[in-house]
Amino acid sequence: MSPVQSDYKVNPDRPSTWIRYRDGLCESCRAGCCHLPVEVRFEDLKKLGLAQEGDREKQVARLLTSKGIVANYRHATGLFLLKAKSNGACPFLGKDFLCTVYEKRPEVCRKFPREIGPRPGYCPSTKR
Ligand code: SF4
Repeated sequence: MSPVQSDYKVNPDRPSTWIRYRDGLCESCRAGCCHLPVEVRFEDLKKLGLAQEGDREKQVARLLTSKGIVANYRHATGLFLLKAKSNGACPFLGKDFLCTVYEKRPEVCRKFPREIGPRPGYCPSTKR
């Protein structure tokens, strides 16, 4: 189970326990969604300044893996799994539970939980 514990019985590993997303929920949350596995695309890495136009994805994957930013790359899907911190958090999550790359955050972060995720419309919200 993820180290992020909920005060109200949400288990991040079990989407069936997630709560329905609503406006304002993020304000009282300890970034529950940023403790889920984060898969990004090459376009996201370019936006983050971690890859350049013309780079080869496999080479970028090797480089970012050696830097401890990427944990896994699947050529078939073009998805890069970001390497989580020891507490399960996204490498871009700050100690204050805020995203350190918010303006350049990956597309998946912009669409979750409304359009994307194991249970669209629901999230693993945790109380501060
Ligand atoms: S990039 Fe930012 S918003 Fe996306 S999971 Fe990481 S910390 Fe959260």
